[in-house]
Amino acid sequence: MAARYESAPTPNPPGYALGEKLGAGSYGTVYKARLIPTSQSRPSSALATRPTFYAVKCISRKALTKTTPDILINEIKLLKHIKHENIVEMYDFSWDENYIYIVMEYCAGGDMSMFIRSRQRLSEARARPFVQQIARVLRFLYEKRISHMDLKPENILLTSIDRPVLKVADFGVAQHIGKRGSRSIRGTLLYMAPEILSSRPYDNRVDLWSIGVILHECLFGRPPFTSSSVDELVAEIKSDNPIEIPNDVKISSDCRNLLEGLLQRDPDRRISFRDFFRHPFICIDLSSQIARADEYFQRSLHYEQSGNLKKALDYQVKALDEYVAIIKVDEDDNRRRTIRTKVKQGLATAEVLKRRIREMNSPPATTATIPTPPSENLDLRNDKELSEAYQRCLNGNQLMNVHRYGQACEEYQMGLSVMLRARKTETDPDKSKILHNVISFYLSKAEQCKAKNDAQQLDIDMAKIQEDSALDNTMLDDSRTKSATQQNCCLQ
Ligand code: ADP
Repeated sequence: MAARYESAPTPNPPGYALGEKLGAGSYGTVYKARLIPTSQSRPSSALATRPTFYAVKCISRKALTKTTPDILINEIKLLKHIKHENIVEMYDFSWDENYIYIVMEYCAGGDMSMFIRSRQRLSEARARPFVQQIARVLRFLYEKRISHMDLKPENILLTSIDRPVLKVADFGVAQHIGKRGSRSIRGTLLYMAPEILSSRPYDNRVDLWSIGVILHECLFGRPPFTSSSVDELVAEIKSDNPIEIPNDVKISSDCRNLLEGLLQRDPDRRISFRDFFRHPFICIDLSSQIARADEYFQRSLHYEQSGNLKKALDYQVKALDEYVAIIKVDEDDNRRRTIRTKVKQGLATAEVLKRRIREMNSPPATTATIPTPPSENLDLRNDKELSEAYQRCLNGNQLMNVHRYGQACEEYQMGLSVMLRARKTETDPDKSKILHNVISFYLSKAEQCKAKNDAQQLDIDMAKIQEDSALDNTMLDDSRTKSATQQNCCLQ
């Protein structure tokens, strides 16, 4: 076994010393690297402006498909001229008999798939600047008549975790490389537009579809298609069923409208590039985002004064979420400082609101037992659909017991919708009455479940806001320590 690994030649890009492995993609391994200083470069003042680290992608020449390395190298030469603040810059490339080396800007924040996974999902306010940055890249490419064709979270890198700027990587190269292994095929398929799989001619509109899938994954923590086998996944993507946008996470109507526009299977019905670039979810300036956050803040105050603490907390968290998202992208130091103070105060207010709500709602310690549902007289023997619906409600109870309120709500919802339909067509008054009782019982359970789900979501959102603002403060403390040290040096 070991002999096989040893047989792979060690990559050795000229002029660079490879360090830790950053990741392995479907067509190459990426290493962190440093430039090897030469006797000529050492005294140069330009050295000071050079980055400390680089990322070097080493593509094994054996992995190339029919494309000759010459064609690939020519394309890479073209890519060297694409410069945009949200595109990973390519500095250099070279090759030897075993590898083609692409020297790129190093992105220290990992890739977007890691970022989403570590947070389960992103709030709309947090997802928005990400999608806006991808949209900027797409507009730039659109104007240059270039398409990416392989947009996916793994190809979207982050400069840092605390104030992440997105950098799109890897376009124009993918089609020359043989994909090996079903995992990488599946990873790519998840973001691939249906028209590519239907062997119809396709164009740059496939990138719009991929952005839709990425936005879906940001908001709901999963892409729209989830089959684990490649064949099932292909069938899911090629089917004609419209994509259903989940209801388990609240999103604004602008966001939903954009998602629906991007995730149209038919490219002719998909949102056009022009409409995408000027869509209200994409095209916002920071001042209107700040105005919205301020408005949420005011509404929170208003609800608190009128005694509706639940709504007050909802709006406080919404405002905080917007403010933290603004801090991440705002270049204006003074404004950032003001908003950071608002976040600090808002977090404290939200904690107080949470405590007051908990105190108001604390029940007289009878929550552990679930009352028996009034189902003894419900005849399920001859009605498979009704029996399944009832089972869904029972599943809802079990999920609620283990605090999985989001899934429990879905089970109740599905069960109840069938029962409500059955009651409408039930002609026997006795049976109808029994159904009515069961429905009322589970409706109230579903309501309780929804309230618990909202509270749980709020806790998750608060934890994320706290985590994000803590990261931001750490950054501040760093710079404060640094400037203090600098001051000390000056004094000495
Ligand atoms: P794929 O073939 O799946 O597109 P890549 O080979 O481009 O993936 O990259 C594999 C992994 O290496 C990425 O998911 C990322 O974690 C890491 N990586 C790639 N490029 C860079 C870079 N410029 N800076 C930091 N990490 C990188």
